[in-house]
Amino acid sequence: MIIILGAQATDQQVDDVIERIESLGLQAHLSRGTYRTVIGVIGDEDKISAAPFEAIPGVVQVVPVLPPFKLASSEAHPKPSIVATGNAKFGGGHLGLIAGPCAVETEAQMDAIGRAVSEAGASVLRGGAFKPRTSPYAFQGLAEEGLKILADTGKKYGMPVVTEVLDPRHIELIDRYADMFQIGARNMQNFVLLTEVGRAQKPVLLKRGMSATVKDLLMSAEYILSQGNPHVILCERGVKGFDSLTRNLFDVAAVPAIKSMSHLPVVVDPSHATGRPDFIPACALAGVAAGADGVHIEVHNAPAEALSDGPQALLPEQYAQLADQLREMFELVNKNTPKTL
Ligand code: PEP
Ligand code: MN
Repeated sequence: MIIILGAQATDQQVDDVIERIESLGLQAHLSRGTYRTVIGVIGDEDKISAAPFEAIPGVVQVVPVLPPFKLASSEAHPKPSIVATGNAKFGGGHLGLIAGPCAVETEAQMDAIGRAVSEAGASVLRGGAFKPRTSPYAFQGLAEEGLKILADTGKKYGMPVVTEVLDPRHIELIDRYADMFQIGARNMQNFVLLTEVGRAQKPVLLKRGMSATVKDLLMSAEYILSQGNPHVILCERGVKGFDSLTRNLFDVAAVPAIKSMSHLPVVVDPSHATGRPDFIPACALAGVAAGADGVHIEVHNAPAEALSDGPQALLPEQYAQLADQLREMFELVNKNTPKTL
């Protein structure tokens, strides 16, 4: 950390800062200029960041040198991480394809969609059993009944399953049926929930909050990682924009931005990002071209009858065509990237 004092800082104030640094068992490296005095702090980052140096008189700026998301950062872990479940792998040269309906509705619906997406080569089956709806009167999901249907369908087609967890009280139940927890956009900063899924030690698909920065997303991942759960996949699913043409604003630059800072795999979700089946293929391909390790897409066999997010669902045949294109794009982008195990 670097502590900067202004031109008006007195010798006493400089000494106070140094004394404070040394009292924490750290070393201070002083450099005096005409307009600024710079003090470099050497030692344990945790002790440094806990001390409110900004509040000391004379200090004008405190600049951290390490990112606050140390476990999520590529500095802590230079090689890309791979998150695996069943036969699915995300990261390190592996493309993971998550597909399925927004919500689990019936056995027949899940069977039709599960069969179609497995034939299309998707590696993880999705389906919500607890749905975060804007209206309390909208379909809220089938709860345990939905989890059972999802798990049975996944088994039948040999696919691991992912489903959203809304409440820490549901973790134990969901853990019995799902292979991966999804933390939705609305809960990205539910720190109690993040801590609890961190303890559960199962892969977590962490979706970016609709008004969250990329750094906020990495700090939320840090909550999970700090519980000893390294299996975190980040998901760009669009942020609030000003144009109602698309449901959200797909932030494709978030993919290389995350990759420049973190070792964690990144997935794009063009379904929630655009809300438009006609825009999903282009944005999915753009996500992979930008370096995504996976793609999350909602698929429904009868979108007009879907109980949630029907208008944004791809039909199974549209998904099958797109999945082929995504694999081709991934091959092209990663042809010089050696696959890691
Ligand atoms: C979902 O995946 O169906 C969902 C609700 O996603 P998000 O949290 O990104 O809105
Ligand atoms: Mn949805």
